[in-house]
Amino acid sequence: MKIVMLGAPGAGKGTQAKMIEKKYAIPHISTGDIFRANIKNGTELGKKAKSYMDAGQLVPDELTVDLLMDRIAKEDCANGYILDGFPRTINQAECLEEALSKKGEAIDYAIDVEVPDENIINRMGGRRACLNCGATYHVVHIPPKTEGICDKCGNELILRDDDKPETVGKRLDVYHAQTQPLIDFYTKKGVLKEVDGTKDMEDVFSTIVNILGE
Ligand SMILES: [Zn+2]
Repeated sequence: MKIVMLGAPGAGKGTQAKMIEKKYAIPHISTGDIFRANIKNGTELGKKAKSYMDAGQLVPDELTVDLLMDRIAKEDCANGYILDGFPRTINQAECLEEALSKKGEAIDYAIDVEVPDENIINRMGGRRACLNCGATYHVVHIPPKTEGICDKCGNELILRDDDKPETVGKRLDVYHAQTQPLIDFYTKKGVLKEVDGTKDMEDVFSTIVNILGE
């Protein structure tokens, strides 16, 4: 079961990926983790990736796919895996498809956790953070005991720039511009599955289980 997770930042795809990992006992793979592991272990591919990062450049898609192919060749991926955060662009999706097809493989499911932008902007806009101790809250879901004050240290809570509606909106615009071609790509392959991400975490997950099978 080879799965690609799609979904806007804040749509909750990471949470769903972790739930899939647990139920189906297949690893949840992020390219960030792969980079870190390879750099830490000083592998050939890790050294190459690091040279781009050190120069402040993006790691080329072909190299990222090489790192990914190396990771999914490991034994724990024998029954499949969940890719989270990759592919992000159409070029990455094509590189991945090409590399997989050389092994006679392909992505089985591209699960798109769909949440309207408005909901994401509202969710993020309700976040509050304590810059003193790092605690985070949400005005509706995890409110502090006293409005605007951190339970743990008594500091004032703020809305981070990253969570402000205009910042979130811009990030979502970039996401949609990059992701629409991916959605079209996986639709053509017949593997795209859209799930309604506005529901409770557990409900979203049961929809996914219905798609993947018990
Ligand atoms: Zn605090």
